[in-house]
Amino acid sequence: MEEDKLSISIAHLYPKLLNLYGDMGNVITLIKRCQWRGIQVEFEQIDTRDKIKDHDLYFIGGGQDKQQEEVAQELFSNKEFLISQRDNGAVFLGICGGYQLFGHYYQPHDKDRLPGISLLDAYTVAGSKRFIGNVTVKSDFLIPDTLVGFENHSGLTYLQGDTKPLGIVATGNGNNGKDGFEGARYKNVFGTYLHGSLLPKNPHFADFLIELALEKRYGEKIKLSPLDDKLEWDAHNSVINKPY
Ligand code: GLN
Repeated sequence: MEEDKLSISIAHLYPKLLNLYGDMGNVITLIKRCQWRGIQVEFEQIDTRDKIKDHDLYFIGGGQDKQQEEVAQELFSNKEFLISQRDNGAVFLGICGGYQLFGHYYQPHDKDRLPGISLLDAYTVAGSKRFIGNVTVKSDFLIPDTLVGFENHSGLTYLQGDTKPLGIVATGNGNNGKDGFEGARYKNVFGTYLHGSLLPKNPHFADFLIELALEKRYGEKIKLSPLDDKLEWDAHNSVINKPY
């Protein structure tokens, strides 16, 4: 199919609450990388009390514990719908605090446990120290196989069952600083601790997510045309294996 005949719908979940360290840059990247190819983008910003509708791709950013508390109940009230969206092939990308809410729960320090929506078979508990710095991850589904970003979290995330990591930590801490895993993937749900924002410096992952969303919408694999990503790869290569 000609790219200018394609369209994709993207929802940004709770940007007024979860949008730490420029996480909105991920949504801007997805939209621009579609528009630069002539692909139509229907974009919707979802705020608290808004009904979450059917979309091809859902994004949620990170935030401090307080903002997570405000979002957790909202998200949880949409749990069944979002699980059905996952099972229908919708693409999800959650960053840090948003990623933590994709699991079964997030247990902050000396506060009530926050319910997650169980898109991922994972859980998060507050750690005793903050992980801050650049992260380089080796993935087994991207070419080139590196993902780069910046982490700033105290939560420790543990994966279970069929939920696999986004990749193996080469530099930095990742999910918990112990098992060598960073992020998570199950079906078309992706979570990661990589802020930065992530996708401008990882154009191959951005296109990977767009192709999954197009496959969900059109029922066939669609290979995107290449873009001139020199600037993006210069940014990617400027942080590879550099802890700060
Ligand atoms: N509050 C969570 C933590 O500190 C998430 C922080 C974030 O989104 N950067 O682990």
